[in-house]
Amino acid sequence: MKKHFTFIAVLGAGAALSLASFVSLSTTQAASEAPLLTESTPSGAPTPVQLAYYMEDSTAESAQLSITYERELTVGDGDTLMAMLTDAGADRRDAHAAITEMSKVFKPRYLKPGHKIILTLRPSPDPEGAAELISMKLIENVERDVLVSKADEGYVSETIEHPLTLEVAAAESIIENSLFLAGESAGVPPGVLANLIQVYSFDVDFQRDIRTGDGFSVLYEQYMDEAGELVRSGNILRASMTLSGKEKILYRFETAKGTIDYFDPDGKSVRRTLMRTPINGARLSSNYGNRKHPILGYTKLHTGTDFAAPRGTPIYAAGNGTVNYAGKKGGYGNYVRIRHNGTYQTAYAHMSGFARGIRKGKRVTQGQVIGYVGTTGRSTGNHLHYEVIRNGKFINSRRMHLPSGKALKGDDLAVFSAMLEETDAQYASLVGGTVLFASTGDAAAAGNCQSAEAPC
Ligand SMILES: [Zn+2]
Repeated sequence: MKKHFTFIAVLGAGAALSLASFVSLSTTQAASEAPLLTESTPSGAPTPVQLAYYMEDSTAESAQLSITYERELTVGDGDTLMAMLTDAGADRRDAHAAITEMSKVFKPRYLKPGHKIILTLRPSPDPEGAAELISMKLIENVERDVLVSKADEGYVSETIEHPLTLEVAAAESIIENSLFLAGESAGVPPGVLANLIQVYSFDVDFQRDIRTGDGFSVLYEQYMDEAGELVRSGNILRASMTLSGKEKILYRFETAKGTIDYFDPDGKSVRRTLMRTPINGARLSSNYGNRKHPILGYTKLHTGTDFAAPRGTPIYAAGNGTVNYAGKKGGYGNYVRIRHNGTYQTAYAHMSGFARGIRKGKRVTQGQVIGYVGTTGRSTGNHLHYEVIRNGKFINSRRMHLPSGKALKGDDLAVFSAMLEETDAQYASLVGGTVLFASTGDAAAAGNCQSAEAPC
């Protein structure tokens, strides 16, 4: 699918439009959007001559026939399309017929709050009468509109596609304060930053491992609409994080069997048995400054790692496994424990609540949401307390050494190596140079735990 798109460098260059599709689209739109002044005649659509005639002729007789107007509606919670149309003044039979026709291409039950609908209406000659529904356009999403318009024999529906252009962009930044601020100032969309964190969540403890002077770079896809506006971010193709002077580069790659994953330059998968950041990293309070004010600090008695995050932040299963505890557990508050294999278990405490279906005996997969950040049990603020248990003993999740993931072999490795060079070249051409980072600073552990002796 990627091959159908043109790659466009966006750093320093303006966004380009797919001209061909733009032209053909505007033609469709011009044809499908009724002119404001029309006259319904027995023969159907007005000719340009007729239009000109009625625009000049302003006798009372023709004026009352010809005016149409638009109404823009926004779907709200619990709204039904029928009620929206009749509330907007549309004739009930017209509304019913138009909805029936629309169902052929879009089922009204898929309408969501926020959807926009543009109606073209013609007032009834009778001041008390309902308006004639000339057309109804639903903006389904950035890529598609559904248009239902009145024709000679009832209504007809069509879809109007707005093709998006895929661009590849690159950015790099040195982290002065937080990864988020650095990303923002480098113009990286928030969705891309969130993905970046997810990609590195196997390796990096995002609340503690990031220090001033660390850096990152990212080569990513973004989808632009016809006006050149960013509508959606795509995949990260290449990323690097430089932490304390050590650079870790990762590449997105699809194997011949269709598995998509991120690999280091040697072709080793980034995926590991357990994640170091088993939480939606995009919501972590990751300012390095926060770590300078530990309430508790890190002690041998603290049996886990705390991640401060807003209440409700999703917590992920750090690895595949089976839930062997889900419920209240003393100072831990709402607590889940997962058995991953004969060696490892992980536990998650102080949750505000459990994800649907999470109970003892439930099988979970890595990255699945199991619950939400809270401050239940012995805790002074919203945080996740994350424990890794190896052979029955608590270990420091930050220092655990897990075997690296699967390595690419044979043809996959050959294809990967070739792709790696191309990707590096593409990145270098977009970002314009090599990346070097300095590292400074020293991190202290943050904590929201009240007591060193308690399992908080
Ligand atoms: Zn804790």
